[in-house]
Amino acid sequence: MIRFEKISDLRKALSGARNVGKKIGVVPTMGALHEGHLSLVRIAKEHSDIVVMTIFVNPTQFAPHEDFAAYPRDTVRDARLAEQAGVDLLFLPAVEEMYPDGFSTFVTVEGLTRVLEGSTRPTHFRGVTTIVSKLLHITAPEVAVFGQKDAQQAAVIRRMVRDLNMNVDILIGPIIREPDGLAMSSRNAYLSPEERRQSTVLSRSLRLAEDLVGRNERSSSVIIKEMKTLISAQGLANIDYVSVADYTTLQEIPALEQGRTVLISLAVRFGRTRLIDNCLMTLPAN
Ligand code: AMP
Repeated sequence: MIRFEKISDLRKALSGARNVGKKIGVVPTMGALHEGHLSLVRIAKEHSDIVVMTIFVNPTQFAPHEDFAAYPRDTVRDARLAEQAGVDLLFLPAVEEMYPDGFSTFVTVEGLTRVLEGSTRPTHFRGVTTIVSKLLHITAPEVAVFGQKDAQQAAVIRRMVRDLNMNVDILIGPIIREPDGLAMSSRNAYLSPEERRQSTVLSRSLRLAEDLVGRNERSSSVIIKEMKTLISAQGLANIDYVSVADYTTLQEIPALEQGRTVLISLAVRFGRTRLIDNCLMTLPAN
């Protein structure tokens, strides 16, 4: 594995690979790697010859009151895990490399970014789409891999790539979970032992939703109410939202319908740690 900190050096290495016909795959991350990130590397390896992982804690996707400064950073451990997972090129740019003095251009996806995460984090997705655009321009990959863990992010990136005619296939990897069901996240490290214990309620609430649908419940408000009741029974949980939405538009829907894919998603705070989780459901059309 070769490490790069400069855009120009990474570009040189990639153009060499491209000239000998290698297909490039990129996995953008903010580091503090876990099995979720590494699963995306394996997907990238299946679909490309050279896998680039980027590790960049992107300041523009954090609001001033969010955890940019505190976000976990461990480059030595990350580099070891990335290499073991088969990353070929690791890109670790400094903030000044990505946002030099005078930086003033942003990419914004309208609509989809206003709801769910966007309703409480109004500048978040603009930061995400700007950095992902930059990373896609720098690496010019055939494929880029993201996780279903950030379902709205995946939808927003897909829309950006389509709207701006970016020449890249976006692949979405499934959510990787801890044995007790908690979706893996770099932010899980912030949880106290008691918060960590209670946090399993997130995945349990999604399973409850699946059970309810399995028992023919179709009303979004009933599903949301049952999920909220289960989550609120954990004393340390503070619900930001629980949503049943159309997966394409991300607009809330009153009821599940046959043939339509719905995104059931939630954001819950435990102390200062905000966790998200989701599942997709499609009722078969008869
Ligand atoms: P992050 O470092 O949190 O920005 O995440 C980098 C990429 O890894 C994003 O595409 C995430 O959706 C994805 N990811 C994070 N956690 C998981 C997980 N538990 N399972 C699958 N993908 C994940």
